[in-house]
Amino acid sequence: MEHIVIIGNGISGVTLARHIRKLSDNKITIISAESDYFFSRTALMYVYMGHMKFEHTQPYENWFWKKNRIDLVNGFVEKVATDSKKLTLKDGSTITYDKLVIATGSKPNKFGWPGQDLKGVQGLYSKQDLELLEKNAPNNEVCNRAVIVGGGLIGIEMAEMLRSRKIPVTFLVREKSFWNGVLPEGESAMINEHILEHHIDLRLDTNLKEILSDETGRARAIVTDKGDTIECNVVGLTAGVTPNIDFLKESGIALGRGVKVNRFLETSAEDVYAIGDCAEQHEGIGSRRPIEAVWYTGRMMGEALAQTLCDNPRKYNPGHWFNSAKFLDIEYQTYGWVFSERSKEDHEYHFHWRHAKEKICITIAYHIDTMKFLGINTFGIRMRHEIFDQWLTANKDIDHVMTYLKDANFDPEFYKLYEAEIVNKYNADFKKNIRLEKKSWKRIFSKA
Ligand SMILES: Cc1cc2nc3c(=O)[nH]c(=O)nc-3n(C[C@H](O)[C@H](O)[C@H](O)COP(=O)(O)OP(=O)(O)OC[C@H]3O[C@@H](n4cnc5c(N)ncnc54)[C@H](O)[C@@H]3O)c2cc1C
Repeated sequence: MEHIVIIGNGISGVTLARHIRKLSDNKITIISAESDYFFSRTALMYVYMGHMKFEHTQPYENWFWKKNRIDLVNGFVEKVATDSKKLTLKDGSTITYDKLVIATGSKPNKFGWPGQDLKGVQGLYSKQDLELLEKNAPNNEVCNRAVIVGGGLIGIEMAEMLRSRKIPVTFLVREKSFWNGVLPEGESAMINEHILEHHIDLRLDTNLKEILSDETGRARAIVTDKGDTIECNVVGLTAGVTPNIDFLKESGIALGRGVKVNRFLETSAEDVYAIGDCAEQHEGIGSRRPIEAVWYTGRMMGEALAQTLCDNPRKYNPGHWFNSAKFLDIEYQTYGWVFSERSKEDHEYHFHWRHAKEKICITIAYHIDTMKFLGINTFGIRMRHEIFDQWLTANKDIDHVMTYLKDANFDPEFYKLYEAEIVNKYNADFKKNIRLEKKSWKRIFSKA
């Protein structure tokens, strides 16, 4: 029987432990410095917003771990000695392993801004961050204004959280339009509008220059690179995340931005593996980034590695990219690849439709020569994952996708309201593109 030690009790570490238990009798220990029990990080915002209590973010009852013989250790691993297979924790205790799995997640970026360590300045990642936000911003009397720095998914969540308590929010976004490194132009523009509708003071194309302190060492204002000074009590730093691997610097394990792994999730050290946000693939898989800080990939890595550790070596094979998120009231889903204007290649064309009044839109990416369907983004329309997965695997073309889009819709009745409009726009765009490209495409899509 081997002792498998997992550092980190997030989705990747816990999925791994659960699957190892299903497959073997190995001794399993999970170490975490954050919380006694696994909780859903993605649900943190709803605790602050009063939709649920923290306990409700824990998917397993507290007895689950003992019953499944998964030992939990609350502690911070300071040192990993791969030659003696020994971990040293902050309290001086040691734990030995036969196999070690690093699943230590991410930490919020700090870019060396003057004042970034003042009281009232914080990220939004951990349970402790949530507790701190509760202290820093319990209501709009204690916190007259918050400034959020960094326009990504966590930034917009933090803005929504603070607005739920009627705290005025200024949102500094470095880009000229919200998340336009990821979203195509039309979508990004729609989210800009939506942010403003929520009475969030959105400042595009604006960087943080410094955070000013009061006499007690607490943030009192920020200064932007435009020269504006904005008074505030809380500064949220949400400019992306980085793998949480500082404690491994002396370990001899090969590190890049994250812990370097191959497709079997093996690191450079024998019997040491890495999964989840902190793992960095030697080579990106397809168009995927070497580090993918998303929930479901952590879960997939945990599932794959459990097989490998239980004598059934399995490569991490994430399949087609997909993801979902929420921008305030708008649900977002993406399947396959729809690159932003900034990162798309010459052959990638987009069909974009947006509802005249409501915040609903879709963008479908296709290859201009082959007409192959590359991916879809939807906002305010919920789609079926498995259907897009099939279409991407079968290399369907955009005409097929347009013809059968209603089958991919979660709510066909809802989709009926927009179908004719979407199809007409598609046909009009098609004609326009033919003129522009002077190509002799056959017109396949005529069933509208
Ligand atoms: C507010 C927020 C909202 C999000 N929303 C979404 C979403 O909607 N969709 C999505 O796909 N993703 C979302 N994410 C990202 C997603 O939560 C992460 O990708 C995922 O939680 C990473 O899981 P993990 O298991 O790799 O690491 P983590 O969940 O970060 O767990 C790692 C654990 O290891 C512990 N640890 C680290 N170092 C040590 C050490 N040396 N010793 C002991 N313990 C240590 C950490 O304290 C932590 O508890 C969100 C993230 C945040 C912060």
